[in-house]
Amino acid sequence: MSTSYDFDLFVIGAGSGGVRAARVASGYGAKVAIAEESRVGGTCVIRGCVPKKLLVYGAHFAEDFEDASAYGWTLPGEPTFSWKTLIANKDAEIDRLNGIYHKLLAGSNVKLFEHRATFKDAHTVIVGDEEVTAERILIAVGGHPTLPDIPGIEHAISSNEAFHLEDLPKRIVVVGGGYIAVEFAGIFAGLGAEVTQLYRGTQILRGFDGDIRDHLAAEIIKKGIDLRVETNVTAIEKQGDGSLKLTLTGGGDMEVDAIMFATGRAPNTKGLGLEEVGIETDDNGAVKINKGLQTSVENVYAVGDVTDHVQLTPVAIKEGMAFADTVYGGKPWHMSYQAIPTAVFSQPPVGTVGLSEEEARAKGGEIEIYKSTFKPMRHTLSGRDEKTLMKLIVDKTTDVVLGAHMVGPDAAEIIQGIGIAVRLGATKAQFDQTVAVHPSAAEEFVTMRFPVGG
Ligand code: NDP
Repeated sequence: MSTSYDFDLFVIGAGSGGVRAARVASGYGAKVAIAEESRVGGTCVIRGCVPKKLLVYGAHFAEDFEDASAYGWTLPGEPTFSWKTLIANKDAEIDRLNGIYHKLLAGSNVKLFEHRATFKDAHTVIVGDEEVTAERILIAVGGHPTLPDIPGIEHAISSNEAFHLEDLPKRIVVVGGGYIAVEFAGIFAGLGAEVTQLYRGTQILRGFDGDIRDHLAAEIIKKGIDLRVETNVTAIEKQGDGSLKLTLTGGGDMEVDAIMFATGRAPNTKGLGLEEVGIETDDNGAVKINKGLQTSVENVYAVGDVTDHVQLTPVAIKEGMAFADTVYGGKPWHMSYQAIPTAVFSQPPVGTVGLSEEEARAKGGEIEIYKSTFKPMRHTLSGRDEKTLMKLIVDKTTDVVLGAHMVGPDAAEIIQGIGIAVRLGATKAQFDQTVAVHPSAAEEFVTMRFPVGG
C-alpha cells in the first residue's frame, strides 16, 4: 500500500456495486473504506429489487387462493389481506439483510463510515467531520427516482415511499411504462387496489420485443389493471377529503387516493463535489467512464447506476468485480454488456435476453422468428385466462439464436439458463438438440420447430 494515504481505496456508496468492489479489493490485500449516508445495502436491498420481489410474492397469493379450489382445496373462509403485516415482515427481512451487509463488510476488513462522503480533491473525501485520503476512489452512489415537474407533484410518491405506505391505497394511479411501473401496478392490483396505469407512449416497456410488450399489456389488462396508453398526468390537486384529483392529457380528470410515478431514475451526483475535482458528467449528471470504469480523473472510478449505463444490480456487481480484479487482483478484464438477461417482475413476469425482433431487423441481416403461445399447464385446471408467450429470434444465415424472450410464470428463472446459451452463441440446431424437460414451460424453448416469420 502507498503509505501517504489513509486507505488504498475509498468507496463512496455501500450498495451492490460498491460493497462488492470493496470486499473483493480488500480480499486482494488492499486497505479499504466505504461510506454510506443511508442504509448499507443500497437501492436493491433496501428500496428496490429485494423488497419489491417480496411484495410481488405477496400479491400473487390472491390468484393462488382463487386457483386452489380447482385443485381440490377449500379455504376456511374468504381470504383477507393485511398490508401492515406484509410491510412489517418485509421490513424485518430488509433489516436482516442490512445486518448481513454490515457483517460482510466487517468480516472483509472494510472500514465503514456511516456518513455522506463528498470530494475535497482527487485523493481526499470529507466524511462527516473527517477528511480521509485514499490512493483511489470509487464512486458507487447509485441513483434516485425522478418525478416530473408538474403542479401538485408534492402529493405524489415514488417507489421509495411505496414501500412504506401506511395503508394499501384503495385507488392508485401508476405513471410510467418501464420496469418499476409495470411491477408496482401488478403488486397493487394483486393486493386488491383499483389500479390505473398511465403511459405516455403507445405501448409499455419501450425497448423490449414488440410481441412481449403487446402480450404483457393484454395480460395485465385481463388482470384488471386499467392500462391507458398515450395518457399522462399534467396536474395533481389534493382535495378536502384527502383524495387526489388528477388532470390528464387530453383534458379528462380522475380521482384517486394515491399516485406513484415510476418515470425513470437519475444519478446521485448532485453535491458530490465532482465538478471541483474535474470529474466529467453527462447532461443527466451521470459520471462518464471509459471501458476500464475510470472517470476523467485517473485515480477515480465509477460503477453502477451512477454511470447511467445499464441500471441493473447484477451489472453493478459485475462492474465492481471487474474493477477490483483489474486494479487489485492482477486479473484484468472488461465488463461485457452483450446479451444481459433481465426480468421484469410483472404479473405474469417477463424474461428476456439478447436482441428483440425489432433490434435484429434493424441490424439488417435475415432472421427467423419462432413463437409459441400456450396456456400454462397450471391453468388447465384452474381455468384462468392467462397465456404464456415464448419467442426466439434466429439469424437465418448463421443459425445463431440472437434473442430469447418470454412472458409467463417463472420467466426470470427460465431466462437465466437460456441466457447462458445465448451468450455462448448457441445455434437453433443446438437448442433443438437439447432434450426437453417435460412437462415444463421452459421446454418450449427447445421444441419450437417451425419459424412463424422472417
Ligand atoms: P424506466 O426507464 O424503465 O421507465 C421509465 C418510464 O417512465 C418509461 O415508460 C418512460 O416513458 C416514462 N417516463 C419518463 N419520463 C416521463 C414523464 N416525464 N412523464 C411520463 N412518463 C415518463 O425507469 P423505471 O423508473 O421503471 O426503472 C429505472 C431502472 O431501474 C430501469 O431502467 C431498470 O434498469 C431498473 N430496474 C430494473 C428492475 C428489474 O431488473 N426487474 C426492476 C426495477 C427497476 P418512455 O418509454 O416514453 O421513455
